[in-house]
This record gives sequence, structure tokens and C-alpha cells, in this order.
Amino acid sequence: MSVNRRYVSRTDPDATVTRHSGGKPKLRYKTHRVVDRRHEVITATKVTAGRVDDGEMLEEMVQRTQENTRGEVKTVVADSRYGSTKNYLYCHDAGIKAHIPSLEKTQRGSGRQRGIFGREEFVYDEGRDVYVCPGGQELKRRMYNRKRNTYEYKASAGVCGGCSLRGRCTRAKDGRSVKRHVRQEELDVMRAVAGSVEAKRDLKTRQHLSERSFARSTRYGYKRARWRRLWRMEIQDYLVAAVQNITILANQMDIKPVLSERRSIQGLKHSFLHWIRAIIAVMGNPVLSEPVTASRMR
Ligand code: SF4
Repeated sequence: MSVNRRYVSRTDPDATVTRHSGGKPKLRYKTHRVVDRRHEVITATKVTAGRVDDGEMLEEMVQRTQENTRGEVKTVVADSRYGSTKNYLYCHDAGIKAHIPSLEKTQRGSGRQRGIFGREEFVYDEGRDVYVCPGGQELKRRMYNRKRNTYEYKASAGVCGGCSLRGRCTRAKDGRSVKRHVRQEELDVMRAVAGSVEAKRDLKTRQHLSERSFARSTRYGYKRARWRRLWRMEIQDYLVAAVQNITILANQMDIKPVLSERRSIQGLKHSFLHWIRAIIAVMGNPVLSEPVTASRMR
């Protein structure tokens, strides 16, 4: 059972015990952020408990960006933590290009998956609905996993046991299986886009863009949670994001809008939106079509 189900902090029940970058598990929050590619404007920000998975946030962050900017997101650039099946299908249905490396591919080189044939080594024969493995054997459709929406394909019993490629193919006693999602064709298209030259270029840009945005936040005390409870963290987060956006605006032009309604989260959110819209009004829509999503713990 997860430690966060067994224990709740008495001093800050909204924070969760999370390990970050190999460090010790600590009570943490996490900031999820979307940054405009052209001017590094922070177009959406959200604080959650530290244990919240980045991949779960993609849809909400895209929607927040569209609402805040009144623009349309056409491409999303993010790291492999966002590269889940669910996110690829969401982007497919929303007509968004997902420049996101596949989580499955990234995890393949580690743990029990190390040195094992990837699923792309298995060729799907659509007419016969079978996979042909690197050893030339057929894997036939067996079980359906309702939760994952996948079919499992497997060779007949005993086939893998006598195969000379077994050591590179599977560690399972009953032989190798391959999963096929019911929307596999759409997933293959999305993964091909994610592996394109354009996507690789965007991912390189994203790396320094998101690093720089979070690095600049440290000037405004971002690295430390100044208060307890999530709603106070939201105040801190909106303030940091607003200050960073004001700095961008101030560097570009000579106007000084006045922050209003400072005393409530809603007021801070309005100020944050006000600044984004001020930037759009003066600089033109800063092409929020290729936002970059990222997250950081503290
Ligand atoms: S172990 Fe099984 S699935 Fe893998 S190559 Fe051999 S026969 Fe094919």
C-alpha cells in the first residue's frame, strides 16, 4: 500500500511523501507548467500534491492553456512521462500533434525489459490478425484486457520454449506475448509523429526552455514551499508565474498595467490571465500553438 494511504501529515495534509531525483522521500508539492515556445510566457500553471503523475495532467494543462490564451493548441511538446497511450489518443482526438516520446519505449531499456525485443520487431498481419515474431512464428489473438483496451497475442504453448531467440525475446515461463490496443493504428500514427525530425528538434528546444523557465522561478522563491496547504501554494505559484510574465512583458515594451484584487486566489488568477492577455494584445498572439509542458517538485 502506498505510504500516502497509510500516513497523512498533521501539519500539511495536502502535501504527499514523494521521492525526487533519487533523493530522500519528503513531503512535496509539484508545479505543472506550460510555457510558450516563442517568448517563454507561462500560459498555464497548476500546483498539485507531489505524487500526482505528470501524464495525468496533460489534458487539463492543454485546456487551461487554450482558455487562458483563447488560442488553439496545435502541437504539444513534453517529455516521455507524458507519453502514455491515454495522452496520445487524447491528442489524436483533439487534432493535436504530440511531440512526446513514448513512455513504453523509454522504459523498455530498463529492468526486466532490458535487451528484450521491442514490439516493433513483431510484424502485424492485418488480414490474418496475427503477429509474426522475429523467429518466424505466429502469435495469435488470445485474451482481451477490458481495463487497458488491449488484446494479447501469443504463440502456441511450447513454441517459445524451443526457440533459439528466447533469451532475447522473453523472460516469461509461458513464452512471449504482444499487446495490441483496440486503437493501435491511431497510436502507431501518433508514435510515428512523435519520432519525427520535427519532434526531435522541438524536444531539444523544450529541454532548455523548461529548464530556463523553472530556473528563473528560483529568483522569486519558487524552490521552497513558503506556506502549508495547497491553496496557499497556489497563491505562491500564481505570484511567481505572474512576476515571470511581467518580466517578459517589461523586457519587450514600456507599459505598466496595475495588478488588481491581490487578496484572493481568484484575484491572483485574474491578474495572471490579465498579464497573459496583455502580452497577447501587445505582442500579437505569441503562437501558443506549440506550448511546452513540464513539471517540477519542491
Ligand atoms: S521466443 Fe517465441 S515469440 Fe520470441 S522469437 Fe522465439 S518463438 Fe518467436
